[in-house]
Amino acid sequence: MPFLLAPAGSPECLRAAIAAGADEVYLGGDAFNARINAKNFGNKELIAAGETCKINNVRLFITLNTLVADRDFAALREYMVFLEQSVQPDAYIVQDIGLAVWLKKNFPDIVLHASTQMQQHSSGAVSLLKALGFSRIVLAREMSDKNIKTVCQNDIECEVFVHGALCVSMSGGCLMSSMIGKRSGNRGECAQPCRLKYSGKSEYPLSLKDLCLAEHIPELTAMGVTSFKIEGRMKSPEYVYTVTEIYRRLIDENRSATYTENARLRAVFSRNGFTDGYFTGKIGPSMFGIRSESDKKLAKTIKTEKLVLSPREEPFKKTAPLPLILPHKNTEMIIPPAHQKGFVLRFESRSPGIGVIKKYYELAARIDLPVWDLERLDGINKYSEKISVVLPRTIYDSDSGEVQRLLGFAKAAGITQVTLSNVAYLGICGDFYTHGDYSLNVTNTETLSLLESLSLSSVMISPEISPRFLSFSPLAKEYIVYGRLPLMQTENCIQKNIGNCRRDNCGGTLTDRTNTDFPVRREYKHRNIIYNSVPLYLADKINALKKSDVGLYTLLFIDEYENEREFDKLITLCTQKAPAPFALTRGYYK
Ligand SMILES: [Zn+2]
Repeated sequence: MPFLLAPAGSPECLRAAIAAGADEVYLGGDAFNARINAKNFGNKELIAAGETCKINNVRLFITLNTLVADRDFAALREYMVFLEQSVQPDAYIVQDIGLAVWLKKNFPDIVLHASTQMQQHSSGAVSLLKALGFSRIVLAREMSDKNIKTVCQNDIECEVFVHGALCVSMSGGCLMSSMIGKRSGNRGECAQPCRLKYSGKSEYPLSLKDLCLAEHIPELTAMGVTSFKIEGRMKSPEYVYTVTEIYRRLIDENRSATYTENARLRAVFSRNGFTDGYFTGKIGPSMFGIRSESDKKLAKTIKTEKLVLSPREEPFKKTAPLPLILPHKNTEMIIPPAHQKGFVLRFESRSPGIGVIKKYYELAARIDLPVWDLERLDGINKYSEKISVVLPRTIYDSDSGEVQRLLGFAKAAGITQVTLSNVAYLGICGDFYTHGDYSLNVTNTETLSLLESLSLSSVMISPEISPRFLSFSPLAKEYIVYGRLPLMQTENCIQKNIGNCRRDNCGGTLTDRTNTDFPVRREYKHRNIIYNSVPLYLADKINALKKSDVGLYTLLFIDEYENEREFDKLITLCTQKAPAPFALTRGYYK
């Protein structure tokens, strides 16, 4: 029988979760926690929570699910010593792979869970995660029933979200709040710009309804899911009690929710109903909705009984911690391709014509082209030496056959380099040289060292940190010096919600309430990427970046090449490291 995992954003919610029959609870302290705006737990409250969970035979997981910088490790050590001595949680939920390695080196007996913020959604992730000491994978919420089932067939515990709020961007891959308001979702400070108004057919084209899989409990149980997770560390004790109590019954009786149970779930909190669109594969505008006045009125009708804590009958068997097995560096693989210094020309979404590639070929150290658009380019084999194909940001198990075919085409054209957005894809890259993309979220030296031992040829530093905060590593470092940063990657077509989808040619803008335009482009499989309204520009800082050990300077284009004269000017500006005459952002550069 699957376990039921409930959220506890406060001590009151923890009592509600236990009283309603949760097997496992997750909560965070005051720091390194993706819900920094929840009430959370101070150290005294953490000690009390540890005791309450022990007495009631409930497992306790602590969230350490943010990206960390080198300067955070001293405080982390102190926090971990406290947690291990005084709270003794059953597991830690971790986003940052560098942090995971550091934890296993320093606290080898702890149990690790890979947070959904780590964007893991494929079988390819399993062996690497296990080598890094992860016992459990919290699957991405965008996965279909079929893809969940496939990953569950691997030898690792799989945790699946069954209820609660959804992010419109792939979790861990969202820079919107960070780049427009300096409140990083990856640091626990998300300001939820996706819940705001934008112009178009739907006024709230980014606001997803909450997830509810209460109709799919027997299917999920049959798939071998280890634990059913409820989202909601920002929600009330009434919410935690009501939702946990209903799912407790559904699991115990292995059935779908009744009409009354569904009505109760909806009454306690919904955004104009629920969605199971990712799970069933019915992706589209019906998945979106906002919280209406009638939703709020309904919530007032929910009263919960007096909370009674009765301990679960038997204590859990402890999960045995997995050891850290760092991969042996394959030295043949990392002999870097010829050009590891200079400008990377990165073309997002669609490749430019072959003429553009020819014109700037000499100038570039590397040219990044989307792998899904390569077959369109006649004569690409003449330029194969400097081309690296960019993999889709998301490759589910159901996509991997098609992506392997595209890689086969690239290889036949003489291309030897791949830019990868997720370490789980290393397995399908075969003998290609690999470059790590911005979405590997490299914000500390531990992550750099890990990627070096995984034999990557170069790695892009996360735009959420200035490279000078990372220590020296022999791995070639890359940083974006021009370009509209990708803010969100969405499974849904956002243009469809606005009423502007142009299918194969899909793309346009998203306009917010201050009349700012964000370009939107179609990615692989009609997923969308939303880009920042203004470009990041640091080409005039290249000499300083060099001192921080950055050797590759990325110019990221969405369609700038369409105006040839302007594009020429832009390239000249960047290569001359000149100050920019247009509106720009400096991002997190310091
Ligand atoms: Zn579209």
